[in-house]
Amino acid sequence: MTDNERPLPPGLHPDTLALRTGLAPSQYGEHSDALFLTSGFVQPDAETSMRRFAGTEQGYTYSRTSNPTVTSFEQRIAALEGTEAAIGASTGMGAILMMCMGLLKAGDHVICSRSVFGSTLNLFGKEFAKFGVETTFVSQTDVAEWRAAVKPNTKLLFAETPTNPLTEVCDIRALADLAHAAGALLAVDNCFCTPILQRPASLGADLVIHSGTKHLDGQGRVMAGAICGPSKLIVDVFGPIVRTAGMALSPFNAWVVLKGMETLGVRMKAHGTNALDVAQWLEKQPGIARVYYPGLTSHAQHDLAMSQQSGQGGAVVSFDVVGDTPETARANAFHVINSTRVVSVATNLGDVKTIITHPGTTSHGRLTEAQRQAAGIGQGLIRLAVGLEHVEDIKADIARGLSTLNSDKK
Ligand SMILES: *Cc1c(COP(=O)(O)O)cnc(C)c1O
Repeated sequence: MTDNERPLPPGLHPDTLALRTGLAPSQYGEHSDALFLTSGFVQPDAETSMRRFAGTEQGYTYSRTSNPTVTSFEQRIAALEGTEAAIGASTGMGAILMMCMGLLKAGDHVICSRSVFGSTLNLFGKEFAKFGVETTFVSQTDVAEWRAAVKPNTKLLFAETPTNPLTEVCDIRALADLAHAAGALLAVDNCFCTPILQRPASLGADLVIHSGTKHLDGQGRVMAGAICGPSKLIVDVFGPIVRTAGMALSPFNAWVVLKGMETLGVRMKAHGTNALDVAQWLEKQPGIARVYYPGLTSHAQHDLAMSQQSGQGGAVVSFDVVGDTPETARANAFHVINSTRVVSVATNLGDVKTIITHPGTTSHGRLTEAQRQAAGIGQGLIRLAVGLEHVEDIKADIARGLSTLNSDKK
């Protein structure tokens, strides 16, 4: 926290900004961020109320428009991403919806990676298609495909890196240059890396999207989202959308995420250390066909990932277990998952508790087998969102199924 008498000095590091950015304390001098759990705000008089509603005077009126706890969250995530401003949203998808409502109209064209979060694919491909916005889905890694997709009406390029579950990395700076040459904006979903590892705005992205539900909270408690970017878009374009359409971040959730962000730096480093250890170990295990992790030298975009992600791979490691047919591969993957006793069988990520997932029958279960194969999601694929348990316990939990797989399941 800061206040008028002791403004924060410039040049602070992300670990410090994650603890110290936010509104000044109230008159009581609370040391922890205050939680303003209120829907409305009392106005000193009718004239002030009029000016605040007209937007000619700063001041809180109603929590759908703004709330001090949400403001602290917005200031903190903007400081970490290095953008002028940020706006909170009820969820990560609420943030992407707000962005689409603010930037797009019927007749506009969007280019989006084929490998982004499933709900994002549906939002562009199904929901906004209904309103006459056309989206071309392209390769995550081939910039030439993005370039070939540009049209005169292209308004937005949307990327997410690394992707879920195969951790493919796109070149943010190359996509930003392409977007700007086309007169379009680049938005990057930075949910997997968080600003601790990757700051897309510093690589030319115009907007940075967050699901605060994942690493920013980090402990699997609340839903939250945000868009980070220049004030002229955040304040003038997205502010009126959230006020009108109502995908506002709840002050309680903002407060939980504020507290989570205080430990974001140490958590992300610890997730990365554990994940790299698990990935390197997996590569040496029999019964495993392939490991996907940006921190491994065997990863197809390892060099790009390391330069773009502060030398770290993040928390998500995926791997293919062996299996001659899709049925055998699935049975083997299920055996490994069902043999665990510590990690959680669930479909979330960004939690301090390790989560194990079978993408082929969960997040990607509604795709056809042909679509899944095109996306590289085999029936033997397992995704680990590596948490902060002791790394030897995580490895032992995976080894439990792998060892019996090798003796009798192959
Ligand atoms: C979870 C997730 C989202 C959506 O966030 P919610 O808070 O669940 O709405 C968007 N992008 C990525 C990469 C995610 O993992």
